[in-house]
Amino acid sequence: MKTYLVGGAVRDELLGLPVKDRDWVVTGATPDEMLQRGFKQVGADFPVFLHPDTREEYALARTERKQGRGYHGFTVYSAPDVTLEDDLKRRDLTINAMAKSTDGELVDPFGGREDIRTRSLRHVSDAFAEDPLRILRTARFAARLQPLGFAVAEPTMALMQQMVKDGEVGHLVPERVWQEIQRALHENEPGTFFEILRDCGALARLIPELDQEEAFPAAIQALRCVHKSGGDTDTRFAALMSPLTPEEARNRAAQLKAPNDCLNLARLTTSLAPQIVAMTDYRAEVLLQLLEEADISRRAERFNRLLQALKCALPDTEITKLDWLISAQHAALSVEAKELLAQGFKGKELGEAIRNERLQRISALKRTQ
Ligand code: ATP
Ligand code: MG
Repeated sequence: MKTYLVGGAVRDELLGLPVKDRDWVVTGATPDEMLQRGFKQVGADFPVFLHPDTREEYALARTERKQGRGYHGFTVYSAPDVTLEDDLKRRDLTINAMAKSTDGELVDPFGGREDIRTRSLRHVSDAFAEDPLRILRTARFAARLQPLGFAVAEPTMALMQQMVKDGEVGHLVPERVWQEIQRALHENEPGTFFEILRDCGALARLIPELDQEEAFPAAIQALRCVHKSGGDTDTRFAALMSPLTPEEARNRAAQLKAPNDCLNLARLTTSLAPQIVAMTDYRAEVLLQLLEEADISRRAERFNRLLQALKCALPDTEITKLDWLISAQHAALSVEAKELLAQGFKGKELGEAIRNERLQRISALKRTQ
């Protein structure tokens, strides 16, 4: 039985990047032997185990063969005669298909080290085409490693284009797509993820509204802006969706099975942005209506993320209007329900009194600004 460090840890070590988690492959062993050594099996179908002390993942060397379509439908074969090379061959990119033995020897049958040197994201073999998730993973690695000079190798881009033509993207389940998008939004150059998807044709299948001449650069610019200011997933997604109509944004987010908070921030951003552009005077009624749509009373914290998304989505010339919105928000939130309660307002009348008081305070602002 032999143990090798594999995948991301070997790649990141060669790149001089911090190694996050370490995965291991074990050859020449059976599940029983692993259990006898105190490893705990995780996952019923895959021969993957957790080390009793380090909790790191140890997988028995395995091969995977495609049976059906989409992500499911792989048959996994694992036995002591499966070699390390067999196991590396099923991996997506050459830079992810290297191993290191416990005495430090690099095992690199597919030229991963050379591709690290030439900054190429290259598929290991034609078996790449068996799993469309690899298109998204490749785009995500491009987004991560782009600052180091990496690009998708030309034959790999051609293969991804062919996979898209063959309808492979349609076999991805939304949950997996969302998982990759969510991760990609936080990579070093999130825009690169969507550029690669556009170039291989997958964007037209996954987020067709963005695969448009005007919408695409606007979306990428807004996303880059939120990335620079360190936004969370919801804000990044809202920026990405910002060129869409609210209906498009909501429907797309729902189809991607984005979480509700994500969907709602995207919907609000796309709804408010054009209203802010259209706002020519700063009538209290208009400002309050925008604030009410954003539900500032109950969602004060979300309002900050909405502002962050809007700041990145609006044309530069419109951004000063957000200062009005912020002042109006403070004015509106300065109205205390308990003061009006003390004045005897109740129920529906209380609601109206609050609203009137808010309008007055927002109007008062206009005279001072
Ligand atoms: P990260 O730093 O994001 O964890 P990673 O390379 O470790 O990067 P993982 O998703 O943790 O990526 O997967 C571990 C390894 O398993 C990869 O390096 C790759 O060799 C392989 N792998 C994962 N998913 C796939 C897939 N869909 N197809 C082929 N190989 C895959
Ligand atoms: Mg990993």
